[in-house]
Amino acid sequence: MTWTGSSSYVRLHLPDDPMARSDGSVLEHRKVAAKMRGVEVLPRDLHVHHRNGNPRDNRPENLEILSNSEHWHRHWKDGSFSST
Ligand SMILES: [Zn+2]
Repeated sequence: MTWTGSSSYVRLHLPDDPMARSDGSVLEHRKVAAKMRGVEVLPRDLHVHHRNGNPRDNRPENLEILSNSEHWHRHWKDGSFSST
């Protein structure tokens, strides 16, 4: 199974959350990552990497907060270009 595209992410319905989009959804991994950082809103220039490549596995130990360039470097190294 391949995990490509944003449709495979887990979305939470949190319309009052500061990270909510106009449809009231929040990506769960970004919510967990914000909590890991101790902030309400994870800055948009920070990416959340799924260590095991499964974008639905949002346990804190599976997530890594990286800058845009760090994130792409990580995927170049393992040869995968997905955004997980
Ligand atoms: Zn990644």
